[in-house]
Amino acid sequence: MGECIFCKIVNGEIPAAKVYEDDLVTAFLDIAPINFGHVLVIPKEHHQSVSTVPENVAGRMLKVASRIGIVLKRRDEYDAYNLHLADGTAAGQVVMHAHMHVVPRGVEDNFRWNWRQLTYPDGKAAELAKELAEKITVALSNTEE
Ligand code: AMP
Ligand code: ZN
Repeated sequence: MGECIFCKIVNGEIPAAKVYEDDLVTAFLDIAPINFGHVLVIPKEHHQSVSTVPENVAGRMLKVASRIGIVLKRRDEYDAYNLHLADGTAAGQVVMHAHMHVVPRGVEDNFRWNWRQLTYPDGKAAELAKELAEKITVALSNTEE
């Protein structure tokens, strides 16, 4: 935890443009925003993965992020917002302290998520859904992950 930059922001060891703080979460401006007003919402306690963040804290992260999204959306240049969370390096997580991005969006902001859309071969979606449904039920009953 000693070198985690987001823990240092929580502890006030390095500066950040904070926009919200309570007993569970802190929110501050992303230093390199997709659009101005881009905010990061983080748990105060260090967790590399959101999967180990306690449910009440994760719930607060989502509540605070969506409220910040509404505040941003009400500003003139924006109409909407994206919530984004990368969990793991391959997913694009660079800072290894779980964080949720709140990205304000405008119809003319010239930013497009690079979102591809594949097609399942016949029968594959049902087969995969069945496998995942079983594993998810087990994963949700395991409080350690
Ligand atoms: P991610 O790729 O999801 O791990 O995103 C990490 C985000 O943290 C990036 O958007 C960075 O611009 C942002 N970031 C890194 N260091 C700081 C910092 N000191 N203050 C604010 N935002 C930061
Ligand atoms: Zn940390």
